[in-house]
Amino acid sequence: MIIHEKAPAKINLALDTPMRYLDGLPKWDMVMASVDLADYVTVETHARPQTIKVYTDSCYLPNDQRNLAFQAAHILKSRFHITEGVTIRIRKHIPVAAGLGGGSSDAAAVLRALNKVWRLGLRQSELAQLSLSIDSDVPYCVYGTTARVTGHGEQVEVLPAFPHYWAVIAKQKISVSTPRILRQINYEKLEHLQTDALVAAIRQGDWPASFQYMGNVLEPLTAAEFPQIKRIKSQMIKLGADAAQMSGTGPTMFALCHNESRAKRLENGLRGFCREVYRIMLL
Ligand code: ATP
Repeated sequence: MIIHEKAPAKINLALDTPMRYLDGLPKWDMVMASVDLADYVTVETHARPQTIKVYTDSCYLPNDQRNLAFQAAHILKSRFHITEGVTIRIRKHIPVAAGLGGGSSDAAAVLRALNKVWRLGLRQSELAQLSLSIDSDVPYCVYGTTARVTGHGEQVEVLPAFPHYWAVIAKQKISVSTPRILRQINYEKLEHLQTDALVAAIRQGDWPASFQYMGNVLEPLTAAEFPQIKRIKSQMIKLGADAAQMSGTGPTMFALCHNESRAKRLENGLRGFCREVYRIMLL
């Protein structure tokens, strides 16, 4: 049986971390949204061979157990003692290691597909719990709709979607190491966000208010290493963005904009500074 799943990228409308757990991992307090920039994942199950195979059209990605989509299939196969084999084909459109959650979204797409094919009947919350060991962004990607995400990433509170907003995404050719940025966090110096106020504004549909509470506490850490981050941000604001900030640990920056012609102006203006620019809708 073959199933096709769309795997959308995520952006962080808010990214904060109140503390580090004893296991060394950050406790997260994030608000995420998905955007219409997606990988396309095809999942095929077969009686033989009983192995998991992954094929992608990107030469930068591993095809073995290091691929997060492979790990997603492995978790369900071993947890439910399923003997069938799985072949996963991924057409990548989401830039890799960009802070857009591409690998996590591919993994979530495989979980959704296999939950259907194998008729496991798992609820989204159950898939999210199972998926945390793959990556902290996978539980969110199982839902793929605007949500507050807390804990290690496993607590997902669904929020109303952003109505008809454009995101203009600028991915610079910089490589940011997520573990290195996370190690650099000094909790005494972090300027925390008002995430409760952001969530309240989103619930009330008060978008102008929500922009003032968005932010990413890791942006200054990545920007200290890569000054281009600040340059892109000031260009985004100059070009009329309602909000402009970094996604994840970077290097991708995004601007939000309600007005389509302004979003086009942003897209064109940013192309002068950055080769990879996408203008897409929030989902
Ligand atoms: P993170 O913040 O967790 O580093 P990201 O959103 O910035 O994630 P991804 O595109 O998910 O970036 O890639 C992160 C790492 O995961 C890369 O080193 C990549 O090799 C690996 N990876 C494994 N499987 C995939 C996949 N299916 N798609 C993209 N990256 C994958």
